[in-house]
Amino acid sequence: MQKFSCKEHIGYALDMFVAEQKDFPIMDELPTDVDELCEYCEEKAAYIVSSK
Ligand SMILES: [Zn+2]
Repeated sequence: MQKFSCKEHIGYALDMFVAEQKDFPIMDELPTDVDELCEYCEEKAAYIVSSK
């Protein structure tokens, strides 16, 4: 699974990922041409959190 997050919510996104997945999250910067929204607000996402 993967989560998209803005800069403001990345800490929250990482915490939620660990709580839900019981796995170590991998955080990557989202390429600027990828148009995804943060899962926790209406901002454009800056990071993607996923497991390997
Ligand atoms: Zn956000």
